[in-house]
Amino acid sequence: MSRFFSEKYSSLVPYTPGEQPRERKYLKLNTNESPFPPSEKAQKYASDAATKLELYSDPECTALHASFAGICGVQSDEVIATNGSDEILNFAFMAYCDKNTPAAFADITYGFYSVFADINNVPYKKIPLRDDFGINISDYFGIGATIFIANPNAPTGIALSRNEIEEIIKANPDNIVVVDEAYVDFGAESCVPLIHKYDNLLVTQTFSKSRSMAGGRLGFGIASKGLIADLKTIKYSTNPYNVNSMTMAAGLGVLEDEEYTRTNCRIISENRDYLLRELTKLGFSVTPSKTNFVFAAHPNISGKTLYEKLREMGILVRHFDGAKISNYNRITVGTREQTDTLLDAIKKILS
Ligand code: PMP
Repeated sequence: MSRFFSEKYSSLVPYTPGEQPRERKYLKLNTNESPFPPSEKAQKYASDAATKLELYSDPECTALHASFAGICGVQSDEVIATNGSDEILNFAFMAYCDKNTPAAFADITYGFYSVFADINNVPYKKIPLRDDFGINISDYFGIGATIFIANPNAPTGIALSRNEIEEIIKANPDNIVVVDEAYVDFGAESCVPLIHKYDNLLVTQTFSKSRSMAGGRLGFGIASKGLIADLKTIKYSTNPYNVNSMTMAAGLGVLEDEEYTRTNCRIISENRDYLLRELTKLGFSVTPSKTNFVFAAHPNISGKTLYEKLREMGILVRHFDGAKISNYNRITVGTREQTDTLLDAIKKILS
């Protein structure tokens, strides 16, 4: 830290993203990216947009908002595009949390929530998951905080039903509930249909997983008009051109290729169920994942050792140090071939 760094950030511990190694070619199953390339239309539209980079991107994201709103069954002024969904989550912390309105989220969930809280000087409460990593919805009733729920949760992969989330939203009419649906396309129920019923609901989604655009950085907020107006105030006060024109064009291309997205999600969900079955046969305990990753622990080998041995064999998975989860690894679901390569490596390690 230099001597010039503002005191207000002196104790900030930044989020640690998953490794993106360059020195060796790994089978990357550590950051929940898609094993499939972006749709051909996305690639073509992005390269066409690259010829016009001398111009600023459309700050209103007019075409992209209209297209995504159409897919979601909502109006254009009920969505906002952001630079990855991390940005919309940060906007939510900025817009809906402060000293008087703390944040609340599960003790085991997306690690960025506490960092967003810290950088925005927001106090927060961590609500413990049950021993089986499930969420007790009544723990979130009337708690006087802005609630952040990853649904499905990460790194556990477990989803609540829309009805269960609705109970939480109903029980907190004077607080915002943010439902982070980064992994919703792999089998969970989206809360988007609830945005017309509840003015305290903000749903966030990303194009990083199901739509193969992690490197393009595109996320969305979906909510009632009033909330979207708040979030636009934050956007125009930080970075009006937050979505660059190549990403905007790629996003439009992906949305024109919805069939491609749906097919990829189906393949990944099938591969996940296959991986869950095979890991169970090998003696792993796994959570009932509704995402593009599995969360698995084995009684005969520590999570850290398995992570290290797989790494030596050229396979990257994600290991977290947290007390309750240190025996687990979060493993991204890839193609069937990648899944078999992983399973072969695990069998070798276990024998
Ligand atoms: N929410 C959750 C639960 C995530 O795991 C991630 C990915 N790390 C994000 C949000 C953010 O993803 P992105 O910024 O790529 O949209």
